[in-house]
Amino acid sequence: MTSPAPVAPPVPVGGPTLRQERRLVTAIPGPRSVELHARKSAAVARGVGITLPVYVQAAGGGVVLDVDGNTLIDFGSGIAVTGVGNAAPDVVEAVTAQVAQFTHTCFTITGYEGYVEVAELLNDLTPGEHEKRTALFNSGAEAVENAVKIARHYTGRQAVVAFDHAYHGRTNLTMALTAKSMPYKSGFGPFAPEVYRSALSYPFRDGGLPGPEAARRAISQIEKQIGASNVAALVIEPIQGEGGFIVPAPGFLEALADWSRAQGVVFIVDEVQTGFARTGALFASEHEGVVPDLIVTAKGIAGGLPLSAVTGRAEIMDSAHVGGLGGTYGGNPIACAAAVATIRSYQNDGLIERARQIETVLRRGLESLQASDARIGDVRGRGAMMAIELVDPSTAEPDPALTARVSALAHAQGVILLTCGTYGNVIRFLPPLTISDDLLLDGLAVVRDALAAS
Ligand SMILES: *Cc1c(COP(=O)(O)O)cnc(C)c1O
Repeated sequence: MTSPAPVAPPVPVGGPTLRQERRLVTAIPGPRSVELHARKSAAVARGVGITLPVYVQAAGGGVVLDVDGNTLIDFGSGIAVTGVGNAAPDVVEAVTAQVAQFTHTCFTITGYEGYVEVAELLNDLTPGEHEKRTALFNSGAEAVENAVKIARHYTGRQAVVAFDHAYHGRTNLTMALTAKSMPYKSGFGPFAPEVYRSALSYPFRDGGLPGPEAARRAISQIEKQIGASNVAALVIEPIQGEGGFIVPAPGFLEALADWSRAQGVVFIVDEVQTGFARTGALFASEHEGVVPDLIVTAKGIAGGLPLSAVTGRAEIMDSAHVGGLGGTYGGNPIACAAAVATIRSYQNDGLIERARQIETVLRRGLESLQASDARIGDVRGRGAMMAIELVDPSTAEPDPALTARVSALAHAQGVILLTCGTYGNVIRFLPPLTISDDLLLDGLAVVRDALAAS
């Protein structure tokens, strides 16, 4: 008699059917994660850091299941990427169908419908009623670079203006556009020329300077230091992401957009982090009543598959000659299939409204913490993109050490929590839009306890 073959344990599947609760069965990180992390340290370049060294088995809804069987609350969405949730069923289905048909042609050799469909959706859904064109790329940084290329070609000018606290990526041009030296730039120069920096509106740290005045300050710098006629483009995030979730004062972006239009400067809005329902509108520009000439999107666009886009005025986008834009993988068919399913989900599954509800829950929780803890200098953000800035209560000096302690304690309790900010003193909340209120409240309670213990 032969004994029956041993049955392999089921492989956990991700998506919204994962049990939606925080549940720790080992210390964080657990032994299997520790083992994998030792392999990582021996095999992966040190510069590629890991915020929370747990290794993932499956994820979905508002949780991440690690290889030790711990379920963590996801307050990061892989940096605002999995807005529709990890392994979202519609995305899985679209990707599975596409991967079985063809995986790659290079769109600049032979075309396919998915690329065109993503372009049509973006042309239709991004702000402004003008005629638009789209080009697809792989990463946010690559799309920002292409937006700058296109603006320079269209205007015949070279100077590009970025702002304080900006983050636009890690390639050479986007490092130049990015404001913060450590860890993004230090030792990696020389940087691209003809990149200038101007002052931002940062209400918590500029005495609440009104938006139009903050814009006048920036414009005056640009006119005096560069000269409007030399400027190809302004590049700005509508809410600074890595720079600290800084929401500019009302009217700041609008005044910059108006000035750009009057001066023939291309107004490029980097919505890589703020895009796709994250802020309670499909695009954050809508909150400010701003219509970008070019809008750059990535992160939330394709449910986790690598894809990015530049969308904008037809006459600007079409100014580049045939063959001037592209790349081997840009607009990969699998990523495009994922994007079509993802963008439909934002539109049809109530996720814009859900982002607003998440704002209500997070804001209420964070403001009630602030009421009894003067170290929380500011609560800010929009939609499912909220943050607290931690300071010394007597001086409002940034407190990065406290920020690091709070996030480490939250990690140990099974909450994936990210920090940001030029001064490293901002804790940001970027949950998937599919997270439940129960998980939001449980995660907030963990942050409350972490603050109390710090
Ligand atoms: C993440 C980010 C980028 C860079 O995107 P990658 O895909 O990492 O290259 C650019 N701009 C903003 C605002 C971002 O948040």
